[in-house]
Amino acid sequence: MKKKETILIGTHNNGKLKEISNLINKKFNTISPVSLKIKSPKETGKTFKSNSELKANYFYKKSKIVSLSDDSGLEIISLNNRPGIYSARWAKKHGSFKKAMEYILKKIRAKKNRRARFVCSLSLRINERKLITTIGTVNGTISKRVKGKKGFGYDPIFIPDNFKKTFGQMNKSKKIKIDHRSIAFKKLKTKLKFHKFFIWNFINI
Ligand code: IMP
Repeated sequence: MKKKETILIGTHNNGKLKEISNLINKKFNTISPVSLKIKSPKETGKTFKSNSELKANYFYKKSKIVSLSDDSGLEIISLNNRPGIYSARWAKKHGSFKKAMEYILKKIRAKKNRRARFVCSLSLRINERKLITTIGTVNGTISKRVKGKKGFGYDPIFIPDNFKKTFGQMNKSKKIKIDHRSIAFKKLKTKLKFHKFFIWNFINI
């Protein structure tokens, strides 16, 4: 029997790990850096792209396994695109995502513009020579209140365009069809297919 190809999902975030694992074809093995006892690198990049590439490169260098990493976050237009690459760090700084969301709602209460977008930069380090990156975005607005208990992170304050519910009120299966991460995954699949990389079908959407 042919050996299953393994892909390292380069994240220590359980919410992300679950969502990403759902997008991967069961014909492939997935492994996390935790099980290999590999720590996360410092996210020193100034953009989502530089951070996702830095992580994919780092995990590949440490494991020599095809490595997939993303860097994602919420950009709020009236806050000069913050928290952006600092999305996870804002939650840490404020003590929790709930507190960070309350802080955001207070900060933009008087603002007319509640436009925002989730951004995901996805990088796949295939071998020593090849690194592929794609970017997915989903536009929307910030809700007036924290709504919904599903999902993770800032899901309960983000209403994607053409919907009435926040990501936090949507079932996982619905969110995954329209979110920034699945858009980046679809683009990655197209690129891998175009370059005829044998692992193009590891993505299940
Ligand atoms: P990082 O990419 O690990 O640096 O962290 C991204 C952070 O952005 C997460 O911890 C969440 O706070 C936020 N984030 C990214 N994608 C989503 C999403 O789909 N829903 C809610 N929050 C998200």
